[in-house]
Amino acid sequence: MPKQLLLPYSFLPLFLLLRLVLPAQAPPCATEIPPGYQWPAFPGPVVLRETVSLPVVVHVLYYHAEENISNEQILSQIEALNRAFHDTGANRNALPAAFRDLQADVNFTFCLATLDPEGNPTTGITRTAVSQPAMGLTDAVFYAALGGVDNWDPRRYINIRVVDMGGSVLGKAGMPGEEAAKDGLLIDPHVFGTTGLAANGSPHELGFTAVHEMGHYFGLLHPWGSSAEPLSCENDDGLQDTPPSTQTYLNQCPATTVYSCGSPDMYSNYMYYTDDACMGQFTPQQKGVMWQVLLGSRKELLWGGGCASDFPTLRKVEELEPLLFPNPFSQNLYLQWPAVLSENLHLRLYDSQGNLLARYEVPIGSSSFELTLQDLPSGLYLLLFFDEKGRQHLRKKVEKIEGTR
Ligand SMILES: [Zn+2]
Repeated sequence: MPKQLLLPYSFLPLFLLLRLVLPAQAPPCATEIPPGYQWPAFPGPVVLRETVSLPVVVHVLYYHAEENISNEQILSQIEALNRAFHDTGANRNALPAAFRDLQADVNFTFCLATLDPEGNPTTGITRTAVSQPAMGLTDAVFYAALGGVDNWDPRRYINIRVVDMGGSVLGKAGMPGEEAAKDGLLIDPHVFGTTGLAANGSPHELGFTAVHEMGHYFGLLHPWGSSAEPLSCENDDGLQDTPPSTQTYLNQCPATTVYSCGSPDMYSNYMYYTDDACMGQFTPQQKGVMWQVLLGSRKELLWGGGCASDFPTLRKVEELEPLLFPNPFSQNLYLQWPAVLSENLHLRLYDSQGNLLARYEVPIGSSSFELTLQDLPSGLYLLLFFDEKGRQHLRKKVEKIEGTR
């Protein structure tokens, strides 16, 4: 529960009155570690060097006209994300000496989606006037029926809502495993990007609030772990290259090496609360966690929405007629689709008596699949195609024959 909700109601008008000056004093992040959250496994060395493009949809929700931020401000945030996740940020050469060897190029590229969930061209930006201020503090922000905006399919898009967070927090993110309707980021327009409203967002004027929240979205914890204050050296983020710490560096920009838990604190890490002017790195192990999450629970992002013009065409399972070959077959049977599956496809193989012989899952993003069937006796078989909801879309008769085909 965000801290501000615990305040007596009578404090709220004062909060609203002070909101223009309060962001500098406020805890930047209200991300909650869900109960039972799986601590990131200690990641091995990341050898993946391929850059990936991750489609983002920015939902602008505005109560005051000024919160309907410009496309230019939105683009400045996408660029800030890309600098941070490619280790080309403005501060990368000004990090504490102790940590300069622990800078990682995460190699994620974020882009505004060019296709909407129906496959139509889009700017990757939606704009919605809302009927209440500080809507980022309410659940209504996640639901069009309650005056907010619905997520675009969160498996395929990173949903970022730019919305008034009431001045008491600056941002919030859904950790991996967040319920679908609420998955994504919430960022206050005064700290989103580097221009427009954010130009006056000091000390959070470099777009690093969204970088920090994106770190949570891809599984990172604060360096002090999930413990409540007072922070303890016994808790940390499960990673070895981010030293344990009892300081958040909220609204600080240390001028010299600072210590807690017997070692220098990496206040320059994006997962602290430090002023943007003093942040500038993810570590190699943080990169490992984020890649694990991307290739694990968030892998569908690699196949959704699309940013690049050469992105493979996505189609629903029921729209696709596969090519089966060879048929008859004697060894393996191959399936090929003219486009990429936009959801998992489930296959069931039956014999002519109606006995279920095997199940297969063709993962989202596939355009081909191989069934290894050498041990099957000769005869006629049925292959049934189901979508993720268990609806059957196709049945194909296939024949196994003796031979070497
Ligand atoms: Zn945080």
